[in-house]
Amino acid sequence: MESITGLIDELENLPAQGRNLFDSIFRIWRYTGHLKVPPSFRSKIREYYGERGEDECRAIERIKMQTIVNTFNIWTGEAALFNQLRAGRPRQNREQSVGTRERLFSRIEQAKRGCDFCDPVAHTPEDVFGRIKGKHCITASNIAKYDAYNAVVIFNRHNPLEFDRKEFFDYVDVGLEWCRKVHEHDQDFKYPFFTWNCLEKAGASQIHGHAQVLVARKMPYAKVLALSEVSQRYKRETKMRYFDVLYKVHESVGLAVMRKQIKVLMYLTPIKEKEMMIVSSSMSADLKSTMFKVLRSYIDELGVMSFNLSIAIPPIGTEDGELPIIARIVDRGDVFSLSSDFGGMELYGTSVLASDPCSTFRVARRSIEMT
Ligand SMILES: [Zn+2]
Repeated sequence: MESITGLIDELENLPAQGRNLFDSIFRIWRYTGHLKVPPSFRSKIREYYGERGEDECRAIERIKMQTIVNTFNIWTGEAALFNQLRAGRPRQNREQSVGTRERLFSRIEQAKRGCDFCDPVAHTPEDVFGRIKGKHCITASNIAKYDAYNAVVIFNRHNPLEFDRKEFFDYVDVGLEWCRKVHEHDQDFKYPFFTWNCLEKAGASQIHGHAQVLVARKMPYAKVLALSEVSQRYKRETKMRYFDVLYKVHESVGLAVMRKQIKVLMYLTPIKEKEMMIVSSSMSADLKSTMFKVLRSYIDELGVMSFNLSIAIPPIGTEDGELPIIARIVDRGDVFSLSSDFGGMELYGTSVLASDPCSTFRVARRSIEMT
């Protein structure tokens, strides 16, 4: 599938069994939005939305009829609106991207001045049971906690966008070790959650590279619990496993790949741009490696500067976890733009998407399939 606008045609070509499976989770609609362009605005249209080498008339024709694809997951209630026009907007050329990256790296470098996380032992609190120290990071107790148990995994490197495989593995391992330590310290706390908000656009208050780890007590965090309930209800009503089918239906339209038992899905109802879902039965080296490859591909090839990586992990010390490990990665947009990527639609309506999941997946997939 070339573009998300071709999704309905792709579905029509699926064999009946594949189509039924798809319909057991998703509904898809395609609409056309129309508008009129006053003569005084014609040249601006070309300036704003014209593609390279395209004349004014052609650009206006595209604007006058816009294809919208609406995806809806009937189990989770998640939905997305993809607009072909937004997906087709000309991207920054390579020189501009390099310029943006240099500007960002220089801003990150400047933030070293007075950075508490550059000297975490002296300038951050520790947990009552001490710190977990890895080769490339160390934990601190979050000074203003999200929840009763909440640590910050502070990377040795200041720049959060510069990390290699060994470093990334260490960040995750240290985070999980901290979760186990919490459970050892207080057995009522058993639902681990790892989340990396990279740079301010993604919710970070410090530029210095760091992730957050938490362990919840009574139940998993709300959205993880909701997903767990969906998975149970799906099994009860269809006798099939939700995440297996979710993977299969994405694969059937060319938006998923499995490598070494790790399922990678370019999720059809993303919360925001380029949302990737990675599913694994355990926190294996292959899972960490896949997350690493996706992140590096997003940063190095797709120019992502700010992102959230969240990993929902089954409960510690019990066998009653319904869910596999689910990692989700989402692009949070241009760090130099003042406008937020989340508006009223994302908060209270349906998420609106500008990037095309098909083109994102083509790039990320190459990286995932590399050994
Ligand atoms: Zn720093």
